[in-house]
Amino acid sequence: MEKVRVLIIGSGPAGYTAGIYASRANLSPVIYEGDQPGGQLIQTTEIENFPGYPEGIQGPEMMEEFKKQAERFGAKVISRRIDSVDFSQRPFKAVDDAGETIEADAVIISTGASAKYLGLPDEEKYRGMGVSACATCDGFFYRKKNVAVVGGGDTACEEALYLSNLCKKVYLIVRKGYLRASEVMQKRVREKENISILFNCNTTGLFGEDGVEGAHVVKNLGTPEEDHFTIDIDGFFLAIGHNPNTGIFKGQIDLDEQGYIKTQAPTTKTNIPGVFAAGDCADPIYRQAIVAAGTGARAALDAEKFLMDSNDL
Ligand code: FAD
Repeated sequence: MEKVRVLIIGSGPAGYTAGIYASRANLSPVIYEGDQPGGQLIQTTEIENFPGYPEGIQGPEMMEEFKKQAERFGAKVISRRIDSVDFSQRPFKAVDDAGETIEADAVIISTGASAKYLGLPDEEKYRGMGVSACATCDGFFYRKKNVAVVGGGDTACEEALYLSNLCKKVYLIVRKGYLRASEVMQKRVREKENISILFNCNTTGLFGEDGVEGAHVVKNLGTPEEDHFTIDIDGFFLAIGHNPNTGIFKGQIDLDEQGYIKTQAPTTKTNIPGVFAAGDCADPIYRQAIVAAGTGARAALDAEKFLMDSNDL
């Protein structure tokens, strides 16, 4: 059984930043990396919007720097996943994928979220080469080009609008015959001259030599009016939702209906005193590395105050 003061679950921007702050506060944090050491940015290439890197930086390289900085001040990084937790009493308990139990005085959850994809093999083939699940992150790379956004909800409309200000043309590929988005978002999308809405359409594949050059689309799939066609695009953006990685916390802390951890804004406190949440696992709105890092810092400061107030420091 390992006993730690602050257990940090997850090693993305939120987890490592919490690790930097907690280790500099002498809290000897232990970070469990999980199955994706470094988090979501490991899947990407160039990051151009994280301050401090005026020339941009590769995602994996930036996360290596985060890790080094956390370790420099004494954070311990463990290459395992947490499989279950018991927050019913302190010290809190967690069991890792090697079956080892960890006891912790405070816990920071920073397990992130995963974008939903359609499940097409081509999404994997062209990931980082034209396929993206984040218009704010990658839209800039498609200035004056044609792109497609998949989805019919508010997020898809927002992404389409954002891209319409950068790109030449935006196809909004909607599976149903209508948009699920709010009236006001629908109106904005319909009023944009360079957004073309493709209703009742499914994407069946992507094509291109060294990156995405187009998509195969089918309209009215499975009906007598079925119609196959292609669109010429350089970027294919998924906007069909995210899954917060919070399954193991169900029944242990309060989650919203989508599974995001509920926190007591402006703090990172959950409904369990001593358990804090940071980054995308508690953020259905912003989902940006700098925001995740910011909440990671707040979670470490919240944990420090909690331990001080509980006379554990
Ligand atoms: P994540 O980065 O999602 O990390 C979650 C961590 O939790 C991982 O280390 C995982 O292994 C771990 N974990 C999960 N479950 C467990 C468990 N049970 N036990 C232990 N560990 C666990 N943002 C930007 O600001 N700029 C960009 O240019 C940008 N580009 C992006 C490109 C892509 C392709 C993607 C997918 C995202 C991009 N983002 C970008 C968004 C950014 O990556 C996220 O907002 C950010 O990574 C969220 O950080 P996080 O620490 O909350 O979680």
